[in-house]
Amino acid sequence: MTEMSYLDGNMLDGPLRELFAVDLSPAASRCDHCGRLGPVAGFRVYSHAPGLVARCPDCAGVLLRLVRAPDRAWLDLRGVTYLEVPVPLAP
Ligand SMILES: [Zn+2]
Repeated sequence: MTEMSYLDGNMLDGPLRELFAVDLSPAASRCDHCGRLGPVAGFRVYSHAPGLVARCPDCAGVLLRLVRAPDRAWLDLRGVTYLEVPVPLAP
């Protein structure tokens, strides 16, 4: 069986930046399937579907799905227990 090719989670920066005002690539995450801790940049992203599907590099569980239409986007984060997002300190 041939493994499908994938991109690393850094490619999610642009599509997610449309929805969030901060770069989520360095955000810490916890896989809801296996408990793996790691940055969004470490996700394996498959773009062969109608949207983007990010999987855990350890257990291959689906972490997030992002589908984009011209006037809206759907973001499914049910495979991520949490995202810890670095934010700038308030002045
Ligand atoms: Zn996992």
